[in-house]
Amino acid sequence: MGDEVEIRGSRGQGEITAGEDVFPRRRTPSSPEAVIRPALEARDVDKRYGSVVALEDASVSVAEGECVALVGESGSGKTTLLRTFNRMVVPDGGTVWVEGRNVGEADPIELRRNVGYVQQEGGLLPHWTVLKNASLVPRLRALPDAEDRARSALSLVGLDPETFGARWPRELSGGQRQRVALARALAGRPRVLLLDEPFGALDAITRSELQSAFGDLVGRLGVTVLLVTHDLREAAMLADRIAVLHTGRIEQIGTPEALTREPATSYVSRLLGQAGLA
Ligand code: ADP
Ligand code: MG
Repeated sequence: MGDEVEIRGSRGQGEITAGEDVFPRRRTPSSPEAVIRPALEARDVDKRYGSVVALEDASVSVAEGECVALVGESGSGKTTLLRTFNRMVVPDGGTVWVEGRNVGEADPIELRRNVGYVQQEGGLLPHWTVLKNASLVPRLRALPDAEDRARSALSLVGLDPETFGARWPRELSGGQRQRVALARALAGRPRVLLLDEPFGALDAITRSELQSAFGDLVGRLGVTVLLVTHDLREAAMLADRIAVLHTGRIEQIGTPEALTREPATSYVSRLLGQAGLA
């Protein structure tokens, strides 16, 4: 495994390793169409809750292997848009595709087993051990090697399965819990990951440790990522492109450099200014 990467946080805790034997690498697209077709695409999506417009004409796409961040203030529609991709939210209008399949026509159970999802606050089951939590998706798929996959995924996120597997979520630090939530999403070996504020509730040091470890990990795995965050600096650090959401509408999508160079709206300028990125 000469191709292995190893990252250590500043406190020497929990490296994240990515070896080709435990996770399928991104496949080389075999046709020109495969190169062009995005792994994730939402087109003209609308969603209302009573009189609240959560999403209006929202369109975004994520190329295979790309990381796109959805950025916006609380209530701007980030979680709603993210959850249209695993059909936990059904849009009122517009279309959503995952790996070329229309989500509206997909079996939601099957879809959720193939799309990794880390929900806001992690969503670990408190009465399940770390190993059982991490093996949830492969167990739902009735895979005989579910626990082995969970152990591999825990190692990937820098948690030794022998040390942490038998613990309860309450016996972990916030950063460790987030690692378990990420391991649970990775254990199904998805090609697509949906992450909702995965570093949201962490202290600054843990947060920056996990951010850099995560950035290296997804780069190594070649997985496609849609990442929700309210933190523009985090988005600029981790994402290839940033989509700025404001009151349910996408204000601008572009590389961090493009947003800084040429903000499309005064709202984007203001957001960049507040983050110290203008
Ligand atoms: P964000 O993730 O950016 O904080 P959300 O996507 O969670 O925002 O919410 C967008 C808007 O939709 C908010 O005004 C929120 O209150 C509303 N909303 C979200 N989910 C529901 C729901 N299930 N029922 C009613 N309103 C909702
Ligand atoms: Mg949210």
